[in-house]
Amino acid sequence: MSVRVRFAPSPTGHLHIGSVRTALFNYLFARRHGGTYILRLEDTDVNRNVEGAELQFLDGFRWLGILWDEGLDVGGPHAPYRCMERLPLYKSYTERMLESGLAYPCFCTDDELVAQRELAEQEGRVPRYSGKCYNLSKEERQAKIDAGIPYSIRFHVEPGKRIEIEDIIRGQVTFQTDDIGDFVIVKSNGIPTYNFQVVIDDVEMEITHVIRAEEHLSNTPRQVLVYEALGKPVPAFAHLPIVLDEHRKKLSKRDPNVLPIAAYEKLGYVPQAIINFLALLGWSPGGEEELFSMEELCAKFDLDRVSKSGAVFDVEKLNWMANQYFKALPLSDAALMVSKQMEQEGLRVPPEAPEGWLENVVSLFQDGMTCAHDFIHLAQTFFQTHIEWEEEARILLRDESARAVVEAYLHRSRQAAEWTADASRARFKEIQAELGVKGKQLFMPVRAAVTGQVHGPDLQKTIWLLGRDVVVERLSDALSSTL
Ligand code: GLU
Repeated sequence: MSVRVRFAPSPTGHLHIGSVRTALFNYLFARRHGGTYILRLEDTDVNRNVEGAELQFLDGFRWLGILWDEGLDVGGPHAPYRCMERLPLYKSYTERMLESGLAYPCFCTDDELVAQRELAEQEGRVPRYSGKCYNLSKEERQAKIDAGIPYSIRFHVEPGKRIEIEDIIRGQVTFQTDDIGDFVIVKSNGIPTYNFQVVIDDVEMEITHVIRAEEHLSNTPRQVLVYEALGKPVPAFAHLPIVLDEHRKKLSKRDPNVLPIAAYEKLGYVPQAIINFLALLGWSPGGEEELFSMEELCAKFDLDRVSKSGAVFDVEKLNWMANQYFKALPLSDAALMVSKQMEQEGLRVPPEAPEGWLENVVSLFQDGMTCAHDFIHLAQTFFQTHIEWEEEARILLRDESARAVVEAYLHRSRQAAEWTADASRARFKEIQAELGVKGKQLFMPVRAAVTGQVHGPDLQKTIWLLGRDVVVERLSDALSSTL
C-alpha cells in the first residue's frame, strides 16, 4: 500500500512556523516513501476562519517548496479539498451513524451542559456528558425533532473500555473510554466537529499515516472510536514533539522570536534555510552534518529518528542557518533579493553609481547577512544623505593626528584623477609616507569620517563605492563640524 499523508490546517490565522514543521514532516515522509502528500483545508470552525488565510498558506508553502500532490488549488481524485464544500459527504456518514444507533440527537441546551460540567467538577468527577439524551426513547426523540428543538448529534461511547494507540513516535499510548463520554460529532448548525470530519476525510482520502502535532494526541482516542464504528482501518499515527521556546515552554504564536512565514519571505530569507532549520526541529539524521538540501532531506527523512521530547526553537540557530544559506547565494541572486528590499524601503541606487554598483556593495556585507533585509541597516551609510557619527567615531575624530589624516585624505580626494579601490589604497600609502602614521591610526580616522562608524567592511571598496562627491563632502563635514 503506498503512503498517503496529509497536512490539514485550519484557516484561523497566519501560517505559523510550528505548522510548517508539521507540513514539512508529512511532505518529507511522502517523498521518502514515494507516496502522496495532500493539502486539505479544515475550515469547519466557521467562527474562527480568517479571511485570506488560505491564500497565505498556499503562497507560503509554494515559497518554501513544500509542494502538494493533491489538494487545494491543484485538485485530485478526492476533491473538493475544503471541508466546508464536503458537507453532503459528512451528512451521509452522519445518517449512517444515526441509523445504526452509534450516534443520537442531543437536545441539551448550553446552559444545561454547563450546569452538568460544574456539578461534575464540584463532585470531583471528570466532566463528561451525562448521557441524558442517550436514554430518550425513539418516540421522545421524534417528538422533540418534530417540535423543532435544535439538537446536536453525539457519538455514543461504551464505558469501561481501553483504547490503545500505537504511535510511531511515542509507542503505545492508552486511554480509557470512561474519561471520554459521549461526544458531539455534529453541531446544532449541521456542521461536523473536527473529531468526526477528520476521520471521514482521512478515510475517504485513504490516508495511511496521520502525522500531526502532539496537541492532537488527546483527540486520537475519539477518532479511533469513530474509525471502529465505521468499520474502517485505523491509520498509523505519529504525534510530533511539541515546539518549545528558549525557556522550554510551549512556543507561543506571539513569541517575538518567531515570525509568520510571510514575514520571512518579505524580509528576504532564503527559503531553504527555513526548511533546513525546521527539518532539524525534532528530527536528526545522526552525525555532525547540519546543512541539507531539500533533495537530501527527502532521501534521509524518516519518522524513526523523530524524538519524543520537546524540540527547542533556537533563534540563534535559525540565524546561523539563515546566514549559511544567504552567504552561499550567487552574488547576483543576493543583489536581486536586496534590490527588492530597497524597493520596499524606497531606496535607490545612486544615479551616478558605476556599473555593477549594487552587486559590489552587497558583496561587502553578504557574508554577515541572515536575510536580504539586513542590508538596509548594514549598508545604511551608502544611502544616507546626512551622516550621523556614532560616539566612538566622534571621539576619534577630535584627535589632532586623526584630523591631520582626514585632511590629507580630503586633499588627495579632491585632486584624484582616478576613483577606484586601488587608487584609494595608493592615497593611503602616500599619506603614510607623508605623516608617518600607519595601521589603525591611518585608516580609522577616514573610516570614521566617511561612514560615521569605526567598524565596517573593506574600507577601500567602501570609499570607491561611496563615490568621490560623498567622500569629499563627509570628510569636509567631519573637519568642520563640532564633534
Ligand atoms: N485542522 C487541524 C489543525 O489545524 C488538523 C489536525 C490534524 O492533522 O488532524 O490543527
